[in-house]
Amino acid sequence: MKDISVQELSDRVYRIRHRMEQAAKEAGRDVAAIALCAACKAQPSELVRQSASLAIDLFGENRMQEMREHQLAGAYLGKPCHFIGHLQTNKVRQVVGAADVIQSVDRVRLLNAIQKEAARQSLVQDILIEVNLAQEDSKAGVHQQELKPLMEAAAACPNIRVLGLMAIPPITDTEDQARHYFVKLRTLLEQAQTWQFENALLTELSMGMTGSYEAAIKEGATIIRVGREIYGERS
Ligand SMILES: *Cc1c(COP(=O)(O)O)cnc(C)c1O
Repeated sequence: MKDISVQELSDRVYRIRHRMEQAAKEAGRDVAAIALCAACKAQPSELVRQSASLAIDLFGENRMQEMREHQLAGAYLGKPCHFIGHLQTNKVRQVVGAADVIQSVDRVRLLNAIQKEAARQSLVQDILIEVNLAQEDSKAGVHQQELKPLMEAAAACPNIRVLGLMAIPPITDTEDQARHYFVKLRTLLEQAQTWQFENALLTELSMGMTGSYEAAIKEGATIIRVGREIYGERS
């Protein structure tokens, strides 16, 4: 991996902010309602700390071990941290309470483990439900028809609050193709809002990454997760 200067890092974040603003403007949205989540997997704590002083709203971690390293190093400079990677049930203990939001909840067993640990720590854990929009076998996330049963299960968990939905759609060639999936997730959120479950705020849509976040913003994303455009290609 090439070293990035602080200036280069700062320029990149500035450019992303500019694109966010343009996309929001085109959609008639307030850019302040959209959070930039830096997906910092495989980045050293020092680089994460440098990026934390820039216009990044929060950090997204894929691995419990890296999240812990960055937290111990104080690399987020007090900014929030979301867990966005696949979460194994046996790692729940270290993630509940340490992550402000767990974005990748996709099964009842995981919900129950989070509920148990959150109750033990006497806190309410905010989560997003991850949806597998294209029903890809290789990917995590609930299929659309499993969303309602999973939300029903979440409603029975007093120490869990569902903030919204998250998706990692298939890589597409065109913006139109990407938009199709973002529309799908937004429609699903709107549908879920009509179910009126307990403990469900359903205000957040986490979607859009490097190459697709402008389309996601146009379709209502409230959190975009950007890695490579900030930190460069991962080795
Ligand atoms: C790595 C990652 C991202 C960011 O992807 P880039 O292509 O690097 O912008 C977003 N979401 C999740 C869940 C990731 O693992």
